Amino acid sequence: MAHIVVLGAGIGGMPCAYDLRECVGKTHQITVINERDHFQFTPSNPWVAVGWRDYDSITLPIAPYLEKKGIQFIADRVNKINADANNLQLAGGKEIKYDYLVITTGPKLAFDEIPGAGPSGYTNSICTTGHAEHTYAQFKELLENPGPVIIGAMPFASCFGPAYEFAFILDCALRKHHKRNKVQMTFVTSEPYIGHLGLGGVGDSRGMLESDLRNHHIKFITNAKTTRVEHNKMYVDELNDKGEVIKQHELPFKFNMMIPGFKGVDAVAAVEGLCNPRGFVLIDEYQRNPKYKNIYSAGVCVAIPPVEATPVPTGAPKTGYMIETMTAAIAHNIASELKGGQPLEKPTWNAICLADMGDTGAAFVALPQIPPRNVTWFKKGKWVHQAKIGFEKYFMRKMKKGSTDPLYERFILKALGISKLEQKRNDAA
Ligand SMILES: Cc1cc2nc3c(=O)[nH]c(=O)nc-3n(C[C@H](O)[C@H](O)[C@H](O)COP(=O)(O)OP(=O)(O)OC[C@H]3O[C@@H](n4cnc5c(N)ncnc54)[C@H](O)[C@@H]3O)c2cc1C
Repeated sequence: MAHIVVLGAGIGGMPCAYDLRECVGKTHQITVINERDHFQFTPSNPWVAVGWRDYDSITLPIAPYLEKKGIQFIADRVNKINADANNLQLAGGKEIKYDYLVITTGPKLAFDEIPGAGPSGYTNSICTTGHAEHTYAQFKELLENPGPVIIGAMPFASCFGPAYEFAFILDCALRKHHKRNKVQMTFVTSEPYIGHLGLGGVGDSRGMLESDLRNHHIKFITNAKTTRVEHNKMYVDELNDKGEVIKQHELPFKFNMMIPGFKGVDAVAAVEGLCNPRGFVLIDEYQRNPKYKNIYSAGVCVAIPPVEATPVPTGAPKTGYMIETMTAAIAHNIASELKGGQPLEKPTWNAICLADMGDTGAAFVALPQIPPRNVTWFKKGKWVHQAKIGFEKYFMRKMKKGSTDPLYERFILKALGISKLEQKRNDAA
């Protein structure tokens, strides 16, 4: 009997554990380790930050749902991975041995790279539900005492969608409170142009998002390198395409939300030969680490090169459905190895994304997410707002039921030409 450990129980780790149980059957032991005992549905964090959701409505206790599927759960932080000895050291002192390790630890939020950044400094975040709750407290103060607002993303950010989402959600929330007319909003982003999204754009994302920012009276600064944040003031260098500083901004604010740069978490980044220089796990086309063949990885923690070099460094986003394609491939590949075979399945990295804009929304389909693509589609409409609410309920239900790929989901997506795994298998294996 093999012991498979999934490290991290977020949007990648939870589905991965369920996929593994489905693929490897009951004969093998699966353990999930996560530093928190609750699963957080990160895509709803922007709603928490304006009081449209609270912590309890978008989180669930992990242990009871995993245990129903015969998956063991340990709520503790992994401090060290001894990849040569196949074991993990937990903060609580325990040592856990594994035959296979799946790393789904998400990002380390690199607030330390910009002086004054982060919730312990002067910028708000929505990257964790705890951060979003803290941002909500600041939002209530803004309603009491309105003033300039900055929303955006800092150098090395890769997750730009939530920055746009939050700008439009905040605009909508302020309108509902009849305070929008008292707030100047500026969108400050490390992207080279609006709608780049770390992806070189998707369809007409540039035209549509620029037009929406203008229609909502939100000014914007692109190629923006945030260099320092102080109490009520943000310092931003604006670069040209050659990377030269063309303007230095000192932007006053009463409220902000800035997506930070991402890195790999410390325990993962520290393993010799496992990661790239920013601590993201190196993987091959089967999601397997080239050096440590019994380590697989999925989600925000994997190394994907930026789509293109940008004057201010940006990364490529790893979105929810794309992550599910990674975990599906991993489960099949570990199952194949356990039967004495080779990894066979390659994830498609297809992406379907719903971005809420408060009372409307924008959706994109990118097949695959990284260009060049077979399909690119970017649309806006009120239906997206409803679809995003539906997606939240649907995903939380899937995590409670332990079924990541219900037949009807597979059927609908297949009809749309969207699949998790590459159709062509490696015949040689
Ligand atoms: C605000 C926001 C909104 C987003 N909205 C969308 C969206 O609408 N649609 C979409 O497709 N994508 C969205 N994304 C992108 C992506 O889907 C999410 O970032 C997603 O949470 C990534 O999943 P993950 O499993 O890689 O990481 P996470 O969900 O962050 O999970 C990582 C887990 O590992 C745990 N962990 C880390 N280190 C350790 C350790 N050493 N020991 C134990 N546990 C550890 C963490 O506590 C966490 O529970 C959004 C991202 C953000 C930040």
